[in-house]
Amino acid sequence: MAITSPLPLFVLGSGTDPDTERGVECPGELPPASDPGLVERARRAKEKLGDRVFILGHHYQRDEVIQFADVTGDSFKLARDAAARPGAEYIVFCGVHFMAESADILTGPDQRVILPDLAAGCSMADMARLAQVEDAWDVLADAGVAEKTVPVTYMNSSADIKAFCGRNGGVVCTSSNAKRVLEWAYQQGEKVFFLPDQHLGRNTAVLQLGYELDDCVVYDPRQPNGGLTRQQLRDAKVILWRGHCSVHGRFTPEAVDEARARIPGVQVLVHPECQHEVVLKADLIGSTEFIIQTIEAAEPGTKWVIGTELNLVQRLAKNHPELEISFLERIVCYCATMNRIDLPHLVQSLENLVEGRVVNQIEVDPDTERSAKQALQRMLDLPGDSARD
Ligand code: SF4
Repeated sequence: MAITSPLPLFVLGSGTDPDTERGVECPGELPPASDPGLVERARRAKEKLGDRVFILGHHYQRDEVIQFADVTGDSFKLARDAAARPGAEYIVFCGVHFMAESADILTGPDQRVILPDLAAGCSMADMARLAQVEDAWDVLADAGVAEKTVPVTYMNSSADIKAFCGRNGGVVCTSSNAKRVLEWAYQQGEKVFFLPDQHLGRNTAVLQLGYELDDCVVYDPRQPNGGLTRQQLRDAKVILWRGHCSVHGRFTPEAVDEARARIPGVQVLVHPECQHEVVLKADLIGSTEFIIQTIEAAEPGTKWVIGTELNLVQRLAKNHPELEISFLERIVCYCATMNRIDLPHLVQSLENLVEGRVVNQIEVDPDTERSAKQALQRMLDLPGDSARD
């Protein structure tokens, strides 16, 4: 049976514009995503590849993709799972670009990491570019604070931002270990420069470490000197990068009020990437893994409203009919880029691998990898680390 044909797949991009749909110019005849034959094609290709392929599925992925994942989890767990499978020649990462980079950093040199659609980026990670961050570091140096400042980057950042932190005595954190990482950072310096998610940085510093909102300033890379005076930089304890998650940043405090009015007795469970005003109104705050564990341990009959990515909330609701689970916002809140990875793209990746073609490989250059690993290693060296994002 012919697995591929000369027809290219362009789901969102058009023509051969490399900027709109990078990396999908490989040949491949793919039916519409609704074609039931796709499931069979994915199953057959995966079976042919056997142990040579290991498919990672992030919690926010669509069910049509998750059904083929060998393991599911958050980004850091998945990267570690891949590293624990050195025999797998191909790691197909059903997630977004920075996650595939982390997997490439943590896996062996002979393992190849594939992102089924190179256009699956992360808007939050894209909000902090290396040149912008280096400019900001110069601004901090001019204000005389860089040497007292420890850069901390959330796992949800590009490899070169992790490498920047590695080169400058900094560290990576996840949403599970952000408190412990910040405590470590304040043992190394007087201030923290938190990238790229202002909300996780603020929520952790204020709610878990006891800083005041006034101790935090927001560095806006689009403003001269970040929009801050030297004195503001000198007075701040936490310098937050002006970045956010375009999914979690959308939840509003009004939605929490509305949910409480609509569902008496409901418990509100949100991710710390949500705005501070939302987190303040929630009953429970925690990482994706925390949200899953909380729901799995919940008493039957209890009512929950969850503020995280919609695919995950829908899956939790489906898997827990004994609970009343609803989504925090009325508007749709899928992660648009995560959803670029669909069954057609997965089929394309797997069928090309069967044919001996590696398409959409993610490779971090050796220098960046070395420095990024330093920042990751500082996190892993923290006692009791159970990093999850
Ligand atoms: S949910 Fe937010 S942080 Fe996660 S990949 Fe999507 S945009 Fe990035």
